[in-house]
Amino acid sequence: MPGFHVEHFGCRAARADGEAVSDRLRAAGLGEGDPSAAEVVVVNTCSVTAEADRAARAYIRRAHRQNPEARIVVTGCYAQRAPEELAGLKGVAAVVGNSHKALAPGIVLQLVRSGAAGRPGDGSVARPELVRVESLLAGSAASAAQVWVDDRFAHSFLEEAQVVPGAQTRPNLKIQEGCANRCTFCVIPQTRGSSRSLPIASVLRQVEGFVAAGGNELVLSGINLGRWGRDFSGSPDACEVGLLRRTLAGLVRRILDETALPRLRLSSIEPMDWDGELIGLMAEFAHSRNAGPRLARHAHLPLQSGSDAVLRRMHRRYRPWHYVEKVWALVEAAGTELTLGADVMVGFPGETDGEFEETLELVGELPFGYLHLFPFSARPGTRGWALHAERPVAAAVVEERMAALRALAKEKSRAHRERFVGRELEAITLNTPTVVADAGRTLGLTENFLPVEIQGRLAANRLVRLRVRGLNGEGTLEAVPAASAQGPAGSFAAHSYGGNIAVGV
Ligand code: SF4
Repeated sequence: MPGFHVEHFGCRAARADGEAVSDRLRAAGLGEGDPSAAEVVVVNTCSVTAEADRAARAYIRRAHRQNPEARIVVTGCYAQRAPEELAGLKGVAAVVGNSHKALAPGIVLQLVRSGAAGRPGDGSVARPELVRVESLLAGSAASAAQVWVDDRFAHSFLEEAQVVPGAQTRPNLKIQEGCANRCTFCVIPQTRGSSRSLPIASVLRQVEGFVAAGGNELVLSGINLGRWGRDFSGSPDACEVGLLRRTLAGLVRRILDETALPRLRLSSIEPMDWDGELIGLMAEFAHSRNAGPRLARHAHLPLQSGSDAVLRRMHRRYRPWHYVEKVWALVEAAGTELTLGADVMVGFPGETDGEFEETLELVGELPFGYLHLFPFSARPGTRGWALHAERPVAAAVVEERMAALRALAKEKSRAHRERFVGRELEAITLNTPTVVADAGRTLGLTENFLPVEIQGRLAANRLVRLRVRGLNGEGTLEAVPAASAQGPAGSFAAHSYGGNIAVGV
């Protein structure tokens, strides 16, 4: 019987947390497998919307139905926000909030090792002797489930086991946790606490270990990635970073200067954290040398709204014109190959037709390659909850606006991708599902974040140069290995980056 299964919900940073738990459990010798046969099912939840909460509850109920013997451990943002709701669900043996996330692997191990001695719901679940939780939330005492949640976040940074290429060819390295901003729609400051950063020595150690394990592309992620290092002031890490200043740009430069990592990708960064230094790095490292850009030409800047009035109600720290300036500075630095992405929220309380039109207009004028669209969802405990009670936007209106933005996003995405037909791009090959591989194709992701289907069967985690032939119905690029990158026997030439050699097959 496999020991555990981890089910992920939520953003890339949350996924990195879940993967860190899996890595620790595998390193402790536990097997991993299907939830229907696992002894412990870890549900790594998100709470960004009411729908995310519903999806997590539905999964827990289904997992318990399919495997009533499994002990379910719920962690992540929903576990932090409303532990009592989850502790009351059948099959739940423990609720571990983000405040105690670093203890989650130990709690799972204890549950597995306690074997049949205690089952969820019988009140006899063994209590891990890891730490005393002094401020359990009200309501937990009545449940048989253990609840590990407080508002101090003292055990919240789960420094990952060494990140290696594996099930995920392009893993996340989470270097920052929490957020001190107070955007009125967002529950994250409650569920993850203030901003904390992984020390620079740990980041560099992780990157070097990843390269040594044959990794080619690493994604730097965080809840508010652009705030990395700001919490070091007055700490030993402040001295360590010293001359390079405690900024994300300083860290990115050190990674690119001091390690042989072939490709670094930055995940979402708030518009105002794209400072001149970070944009300058894009210009310096994003242009094609022998083997393609080392800093991926991809930037995700959350927009949320194109209306100044709505941004103010959201307590966002930039105005629409700031956003526009940052985008054009990035395009100038990276070139028009840059793939630009954004999150846009629809139906924030009081959003008028005119305010929504401003968003449509702004989206229309900027060169977006993709958009993540979200309807506003009121989260308990936020200012947005009260604003929604005062000035809700009707569901039908939200749906209509979502449809308009969806259509615009689709059009822009296709136009962006069509520009690459007939051109060469660098890409990394991914783990390809058997059905696609059997059809003689390989899935990949271009350096500038476009999904691609490559003619031919290639192993995962290869850096390849491709010639784009067209787009399929879903908008995925269709490509063949570029002649200029092929060796005499039809295999791709090796790409060399300092000490790292990545050879295509
Ligand atoms: S910047 Fe705003 S939206 Fe983003 S995590 Fe922080 S509070 Fe939430």
